[in-house]
Amino acid sequence: MLRAVTDEAKELTTSRIRTVADGISAPLQPGWATSVPPGNNVGMKVIVCVKQIPDPALPGELDPSTNTLKRDGKLILDESDSYGVEMALQLVDAAGGGEVALVSMAPNGEVSGMRTALAMGAAQGVLVSDPALAGSDALTTAKILAAAVQRLGGADLVIAGTESSDGYTGTVPEQMAELLGLPSVTFAKKVTVDGATLKVDRQTESGYDEVTCPMPALVSVTAGVVEPRYPSFKGIMAAKSKPVETVTAGDLGVTPVGWAGAGQTVASVTQAPARQAGTVVEDDGETYAKIVEFLEGLKVI
Ligand SMILES: Cc1cc2nc3c(=O)[nH]c(=O)nc-3n(C[C@H](O)[C@H](O)[C@H](O)COP(=O)(O)OP(=O)(O)OC[C@H]3O[C@@H](n4cnc5c(N)ncnc54)[C@H](O)[C@@H]3O)c2cc1C
Repeated sequence: MLRAVTDEAKELTTSRIRTVADGISAPLQPGWATSVPPGNNVGMKVIVCVKQIPDPALPGELDPSTNTLKRDGKLILDESDSYGVEMALQLVDAAGGGEVALVSMAPNGEVSGMRTALAMGAAQGVLVSDPALAGSDALTTAKILAAAVQRLGGADLVIAGTESSDGYTGTVPEQMAELLGLPSVTFAKKVTVDGATLKVDRQTESGYDEVTCPMPALVSVTAGVVEPRYPSFKGIMAAKSKPVETVTAGDLGVTPVGWAGAGQTVASVTQAPARQAGTVVEDDGETYAKIVEFLEGLKVI
């Protein structure tokens, strides 16, 4: 069940992880699996979900038998998730210490996109790569990523993008929150931390809501929440030796259900309509009126 979060997030409390996927049943505790021991009060621990996607600058190709995007070439860091990585790095800086770690599910042991996030400043990552995950839908993806968060020992905060750039459903973060028993705040355009409380400006159609919730929590951030840094040369070199543990679904105790068990199918795909040519308006001294009329027609003024 998805959890819709509004101002009532103030009242949400952290619960225990539900046994929804094999192997995910332990309580999620703030803490760190490796470099920063749990309960050591040495700063903030943030885990960022980073999706690795085919380069959108290259022509994408669909698999005609499944109607899904072919992902067998080089994958890059989804720009949507570079905002989450930057947000995590800034929050850790503001907390005066801690670490940023990554979780990703991608085919063929692909780590190129994760290396970009490591070059930005993340410390380590868990990649879940397993042929048995082919055909996984958004729920299985959420189960896998939730289990990967558990593998890292949990965190004070889990960050995801609001939606990915390729074939997005915009449902993975909320499903993860439900699986992990965490409060979830969506569409964050500003995130700050005050003690053990997360403060979020949550984008709405008419403006934004100010939402607070206790940590640990999961937040999905919108594009533009921060300006992602470019990896420095030093960062790129350092990223080559940062640890990325590659695991299978079985290692995480999750049983993949594949195409047959997916709760979603891509029933059909249709060519996007070609973009119409724009209207050229000659300036005759009264052009502003035509522009106003055009904008009124679009109901933007
Ligand atoms: C029927 C079906 C079959 C599919 N089969 C395959 C397949 O064979 N191979 C394949 O590669 N994909 C497959 N997919 C797509 C894959 O399951 C997607 O990763 C999943 O649907 C969630 O991605 P999304 O873009 O919808 O997530 P969204 O909810 O739009 O993403 C929001 C955020 O969640 C996080 N996130 C989402 N996915 C990942 C990820 N994989 N790793 C890390 N963070 C993530 C990111 O932070 C992202 O910004 C399939 C999808 C369907 C519906």
